[in-house]
Amino acid sequence: ASPATQAALREAYERVVRRNPGEPEFHQAVKEVLESLAPVLDRRPELLDAKIIERVTEPERQIIFRVPWQDDKGEIHVNRGFRIEFNGALGPYKGGLRFHPTVNLGIVKFLGFEQIFKNALTGLSMGGGKGGSDFDPHGRSDAEVMRFCQSFMTELHRHLGEHTDVPAGDIGVGAREIGYLFGQYRRLVNRWEAGVLTGKGIGWGGSAGRTEATGYGSVLFTAEMLKLRGEDLEGRQVVVSGSGNVAIYTVEKAQALGANVITVSDSGGYVVDEKGIDLDLLKEVKEVRRGRVSEYAELRGPSARYVPGGRVWEVPADIAFPSATENELNDADALTLIRNGVKAVSEGANMPTTPEAVRLFQEAGVAFAPGKAANAGGVAVSGLEMAQNAGRERWTFEKVEAELARIMKSVHDKCYETAERYGAPGDYVTGANIAGFESVSDAILAQGLI
Ligand code: GLU
Repeated sequence: ASPATQAALREAYERVVRRNPGEPEFHQAVKEVLESLAPVLDRRPELLDAKIIERVTEPERQIIFRVPWQDDKGEIHVNRGFRIEFNGALGPYKGGLRFHPTVNLGIVKFLGFEQIFKNALTGLSMGGGKGGSDFDPHGRSDAEVMRFCQSFMTELHRHLGEHTDVPAGDIGVGAREIGYLFGQYRRLVNRWEAGVLTGKGIGWGGSAGRTEATGYGSVLFTAEMLKLRGEDLEGRQVVVSGSGNVAIYTVEKAQALGANVITVSDSGGYVVDEKGIDLDLLKEVKEVRRGRVSEYAELRGPSARYVPGGRVWEVPADIAFPSATENELNDADALTLIRNGVKAVSEGANMPTTPEAVRLFQEAGVAFAPGKAANAGGVAVSGLEMAQNAGRERWTFEKVEAELARIMKSVHDKCYETAERYGAPGDYVTGANIAGFESVSDAILAQGLI
């Protein structure tokens, strides 16, 4: 990189750290993107003159609000709600809501920042945003979750709209929560505005295939990477972390393509199942009983072993799908996987791999798919849901699945070709960051000083 580019990138990063104290995940996400951008800034100095880096790292709007609610015993609780409307140059702010005790401003900003580039890569018209709350739905009754969602939406609704800001799910926010949120939005605005939320039930404006989309997309992206190396998933040993929506449908698609998926996990530990994960049982435990993976092991019988406190990365595998949460796969885990012969890693979660671990995979020649490309299938089908809502259409599962496959191939090819064009062949991290950044930057430049 030229000295001017290097200095600009360093200053930009230091400025982000200074202006956003105590937000390590946000700093990490920004650093990871900036580290990819030198080649494009060298070639296009007008982007530096236009202060594009400063503009994309500063959210357009940050909303923080109080969420008071009452539990079943009548006790009052106060949680904090967030919505970061990060960048709207490419379309309405789009991104999920996360309900988890670890949620804070820095986490939501990191997720919103990633979302800008992810959404750009889909080629659909969506800006980047993210939101959530430190509310913990675990162990709460349906009635408690409903009251929380109603209170959350009572404040948030004034910032939303099908052309303004369109939330969806993320960790802790699934079909049940989207239902309660939508119901409250509709009461408040007295409009049937289906396009204001995605991940809705299929009978009331939701899209077929949205539930499956993130996991399916992550596997489809991996299949594209393997294809370029003359390989596929058939007969491959696969480890998946997590047991939420992304993990479950990663297992489903990997199995459909002939892989042998042997693990899932949660915050308590992991299950290794020598016969391959029994998907019906996993869905029963997680989606119906809202239980833990230890229950899966109990019900499954002798082929499955529960390893409390363990991490799936110690299980030898050809392909790894980190599909739980940020920074769940560190440098020591990467070395273990590499030693055991891993060939591909695909981030179903957002930023699950630490920067050191990413570097190790790349140095070892492992095909590495960054989350903003590999897990873009979820938000892509959200985009298709918005299109169906706008056109008052209802597409079949087959049509959505075909569109998802087309989009994932196009995301893959865009990353691959961009990396090649900027002198980093096979580096999907560089490809994804530059391709996403260029789309957003061009839109910002064209729209004037925004
Ligand atoms: N939370 C998902 C993500 O990380 C989906 C967002 C959406 O569908 O808007 O991309």
